Amino acid sequence: MAGLLEGRISLVTGAGWGIGRATSLVMAREGATVVVSDLNADGGEETLSAIKEAGGDGIFVHADVSRPDDVAALVGQVVAAYGRLDCAYNNAGIEGYMAGRLHEYPEEEWDRLIDVNVKGVWLCLKHEIPQMMQQGGGAIVNTASAAGLVGSRRLSAYVASKHAVVGLTKAAALEYAQDGIRVNAVCPGIIDTPMVRRLIGGRDAEYENSIPARQPIGRLGTPEEIAESVAWLCSDAASLVTGLAMAVDGGFTAQ
Ligand code: NAD
Repeated sequence: MAGLLEGRISLVTGAGWGIGRATSLVMAREGATVVVSDLNADGGEETLSAIKEAGGDGIFVHADVSRPDDVAALVGQVVAAYGRLDCAYNNAGIEGYMAGRLHEYPEEEWDRLIDVNVKGVWLCLKHEIPQMMQQGGGAIVNTASAAGLVGSRRLSAYVASKHAVVGLTKAAALEYAQDGIRVNAVCPGIIDTPMVRRLIGGRDAEYENSIPARQPIGRLGTPEEIAESVAWLCSDAASLVTGLAMAVDGGFTAQ
């Protein structure tokens, strides 16, 4: 039986760790050739090795998604290597400063977070879409968050950035629906990745123990559970789905 993404050329940003790595592996398992991209070359190369060990194929391209020249070169390298871009997963993101309330948030931290989480996604869309238009279509998934659907204390910049990703997703879905390009967002709940380990790391045991109970399902999600959703959204099985901000959050936003 053919995989969901058989023969597709996929790009994944933030693919060096966590959700991006898991999604790269699931896309490869489903038959895609995967362009693994990250700011962190070691992490990206490890993801590519894991793909190849599992019998898949792809390349690693170093890029900082907040840098316009990097993103232009990244999409250029995908097209130079494979001649097309069928699926793009714009996943790179950072958690930013977590220690204080909105009025305590340092301006430079705000600027960096918005540069990566919002401008980074916009730059990826800006360069991916013309290639998809030229080839007659494609599928894009952006990583927003449950924090793109509801508010959260002490996460103001992150919450604002992920609501912006949901907005960009809806706007792009409307603008390019007639071009055969679907644009969706995945909104993960609390997923066990290095990012969440960093968030929990600085807090006490009581806080750590309280985390699983925040999701009705009673546990953290796994990166693989997000990856399966992204692969489906990128596939023809989701051919009627565009402009969706899909919660994959163990019931977090249903509360
Ligand atoms: P992670 O920190 O484990 O991995 C993020 C990856 O992105 C890393 O490999 C990092 O090197 C890369 N990266 C960071 N800045 C970059 C940049 N400027 N350019 C290119 N690559 C960059 O994080 P994760 O938990 O896997 O998060 C992935 C995405 O999922 C992020 O957008 C995050 O906001 C989102 N998210 C995570 C959770 C969660 O609970 N883990 C929940 C909701 C949303």
